[in-house]
Amino acid sequence: MKVTEHINQAKDTLISFEILPPLKGKSIESIYDHLDPLMEFKPSYINVTYHRSEHMFKKRADGSFDKVEIRKRPGTVGICAAIMNHYSIDAVPHLICGGFSKEETENALIDLSFLGIDNVLVLRGDAPKNETFFEAHPNGHRYALELLNQVVHMNNGIYLEEDLQGGLKTKFCIGVAGYPEKHFEAPNLQTDLGYLKRKVEGGADYIVTQMFFDNKKFFDFVNRCREAGITVPIIPGLKPLTTKKQLTVLPRTFHVDMPDELAEEALKCKTDKEVEVVGTEWLIQQSKELKAAGVPVLHYYTLGKPHVIHKVVSTIR
Ligand code: FAD
Repeated sequence: MKVTEHINQAKDTLISFEILPPLKGKSIESIYDHLDPLMEFKPSYINVTYHRSEHMFKKRADGSFDKVEIRKRPGTVGICAAIMNHYSIDAVPHLICGGFSKEETENALIDLSFLGIDNVLVLRGDAPKNETFFEAHPNGHRYALELLNQVVHMNNGIYLEEDLQGGLKTKFCIGVAGYPEKHFEAPNLQTDLGYLKRKVEGGADYIVTQMFFDNKKFFDFVNRCREAGITVPIIPGLKPLTTKKQLTVLPRTFHVDMPDELAEEALKCKTDKEVEVVGTEWLIQQSKELKAAGVPVLHYYTLGKPHVIHKVVSTIR
């Protein structure tokens, strides 16, 4: 079932979770171990992120360098199929531009269609950690909008290969990303919103936001979207603060602000266990306020912290 169908049929705010594929070599059991405790909340769907592999350069004895793959998280499509089969619940695979040719994307979409997966979250992806700027694949896409156009074309039965006939088994429901605190490369929020609007006009059915720790930023963003004529559902993306290190890592990595009050409380903590308590309480308050404001879905980035998300959701539901 499509994310928008879940939203349209809902009587109350829905719950969804987002997971990362495990590192190469781990089994699907690690996904089930992660998700099992959260299933009692009957999430409407589970997102599975997509990652290009990362490389580093290792010096050889002769002084030259070897490009070595250091982290790989394959399996988004397979994990989505396993989740749907194991839990009878919808899965939302992320699709990214980075590292993929149009043909590879087409093949991934055909696989998803065969598997009966109705949803995709369409993203650009970031530059690999050791590179400064995002580079498109020579036969790939530069912006999420271009990838979205490819999905929309396939929804309309248009393939890259002319000899392929007919449409996909399913017409994908398409989500895109939005940034309450602006995407870090955009010159300003208004320009960023202009590009977001183009994604919606291009066929995006809903928006999921980057994490934020100050609900006012989300509410302001929604107001600005509505003023700009963006009418699709906007789903808040939520993550708990769980370590002191994240006070600097999260702003640096995701370009989000930490509210004074949260930062002050976390800085007073002596251990990360205490920070986790502070972060959990903060997320509970954020979630309660968003739910009271009638957001369509509370979307939690679980990222290795299912017990925290469990505590939050069991408190607010
Ligand atoms: P775009 O919409 O393409 O925007 C990128 C930048 O380009 C923005 O600054 C925008 O303003 C600008 N822009 C857009 N169109 C144009 C244009 N035509 N001309 C000039 N500028 C333009 N990353 C992963 O690798 N894997 C994941 O699974 C993943 N999941 C995510 C889930 C969510 C909910 C979010 C919020 C992010 C996720 N990301 C993921 C990170 C995401 O890929 C990065 O934030 C990336 O830098 C931008 O992706 P986007 O889809 O927003 O890009």
